[in-house]
Amino acid sequence: MQTNYTYNEQTYIRALRGANIVLWEWCTENSKIFFSNNLVDITGYDSDSFINLLDFIEKIVVSDDRTSAKNDLTFFMNGNTTTYRSDFRILTKDGKIKYFLITGKTTKTSKEGKKFLSGSLMDITEKKLLEEQIKYLAYYDSLTGIPNRFLFTNNLRIMLQNSKKGALIFLDIDGLKLVNDTFGHDYGDLLLIIFSQLMISAIKDSGKIYRMAGDEFMIIVDKFNSYKEVTNLCDNILNYLKKPFEVKYEQIYITISMGISIFPKDSNDINELYKYSDLALYKSKISGKNNFTFFQKNIFDLYNRRLTIEQELKSAIKNNEFHMLYQPQINSKNNEIIGFESLLRWESQKLGCISPAEFIPIAEKTGLIVEIGDWTLNCVCKVIHAMNIKGIELKKMSINVSPIQLRKPDFIYKFTNTYKKYAVSPSILEVEITEGTLINLSTSKLETIDILLKNGIRVSIDDFGTGYSSLNYLTNLPINTIKIDKSFIDNIYSKKNKAVVSCIINLSKLLNYEVIAEGVETKKQLDLLSEIGCTIIQGYYFSKPLPICEVEKLLIKGNTLGGA
Ligand code: C2E
Ligand code: CA
Ligand code: CA
Repeated sequence: MQTNYTYNEQTYIRALRGANIVLWEWCTENSKIFFSNNLVDITGYDSDSFINLLDFIEKIVVSDDRTSAKNDLTFFMNGNTTTYRSDFRILTKDGKIKYFLITGKTTKTSKEGKKFLSGSLMDITEKKLLEEQIKYLAYYDSLTGIPNRFLFTNNLRIMLQNSKKGALIFLDIDGLKLVNDTFGHDYGDLLLIIFSQLMISAIKDSGKIYRMAGDEFMIIVDKFNSYKEVTNLCDNILNYLKKPFEVKYEQIYITISMGISIFPKDSNDINELYKYSDLALYKSKISGKNNFTFFQKNIFDLYNRRLTIEQELKSAIKNNEFHMLYQPQINSKNNEIIGFESLLRWESQKLGCISPAEFIPIAEKTGLIVEIGDWTLNCVCKVIHAMNIKGIELKKMSINVSPIQLRKPDFIYKFTNTYKKYAVSPSILEVEITEGTLINLSTSKLETIDILLKNGIRVSIDDFGTGYSSLNYLTNLPINTIKIDKSFIDNIYSKKNKAVVSCIINLSKLLNYEVIAEGVETKKQLDLLSEIGCTIIQGYYFSKPLPICEVEKLLIKGNTLGGA
């Protein structure tokens, strides 16, 4: 059915209301401006409140925008543009700020030849707010609310263009992945938020912090007079983190590493400065973390060494550059050797002898550790087989296994095949997994450990005390042995450390775990450990890691070892 519909003035008024648009016309000759009635809806002012456009601008536009609004009008009136266009903020009668866009054009009536400037006034507040939000999102990190890498690049570029002096501090949280994997990503996110605020307090007005990605932050120090100021700032930041902070009722300690480049001294190119501070950060990481390093050209050498190690590792097995050493584990009550830990050695043709502490992390990063792990297991089983043939009795042999190996689906298959191939009894073998790895293993990978245990292989937690696990966590673990990390033994003289070690030992006894103290170097450490009931010792006090011929000699001689 069709309705007869007639348009009238009301139609226009309804449409204008719907569109949030006010129409206006200003007859420049009689100077009176007309606004459509709905002006009152948007601004609170009646449509006859203003004499002309200039009066409108004077009365309603916020003072900060008034000059530019007037300039836009003058520009148009002087004939510089054919369309009048201006945007500004207005203050409504009830005190709200709104964004408006005004547009208009001049027309002349054909009869009287009068000049009219007419157009519309549109409320663009929502659009403006959205634009501001987009701008905010583009320049600020959505999680922490602090500036992001875009603003970093912008601000640094401006500083460099203006030949300003300054420093870039690249900052990276040590082991955030471990926190995420242990407590969950929500917890990690909360930590990042609290951490960012803490950094803002630590930096004060010495510089500005930006979140680059994940756990990477950058500080631009703009008030730069001397290295000392930057050193003080970094010291201050490290000091702030000495105290634990609370995230979801958990007390947490975190450490960070920093790398610093100075501009324009090191470079005045953004990418170079970024790379240099990253290299300096790399140096901080490999020299034990929780510190800071200024970029120096020789860091390139370190970096190149890493690349060479990566390259050389690829052919190390083929070139026969690996061999194993074996460090005795002793029962200090009777000096009896209860077993050995197998430790890998690399004598590179190109680089000489390289510590596993240096090359294992690189092998893990590149995935080569899987092949290397296969090689070590094969080598160790072969050696045990040879001892068996010679009738030399070995009680236990520990093998370090990397998390990367454990995550491979065929790990158990390969492991079992190897010891079976050499007729090695699984009861001799012990797999060492670091505490950090164990916490990170998902439930499905914990099954891998269960299978090892079911097959009669022993499992030990290496470097115990360096991860985030609590003693409570211990009670649920499917393991046989705990190796207390050397760092505790180094400081066993401190009351606190002694108490911690004593606690671990007591709980382990209750849970039937064997405890091994690692890195025992002195008689004093040995005595303190005996005092608190830890008798199984691995360390230079008894013996450094030995070649297989020495191991065989020892075992043939009588299975005991005197201290240093
Ligand atoms: P780790 O498993 O904690 O091994 C103990 C490290 O402490 C060994 O260093 C050992 O030589 C050293 N050590 C033992 N007693 C003392 C002592 O009294 N004083 C001092 N200063 N050091 C002592 P190494 O052989 O350089 O190995 C370093 C790390 O490299 C190992 O730490 C382990 O994480 C890794 N690694 C070594 N061999 C292998 C391997 O075959 N496979 C894997 N995946 N990792 C290995
Ligand atoms: Ca170990
Ligand atoms: Ca260890």
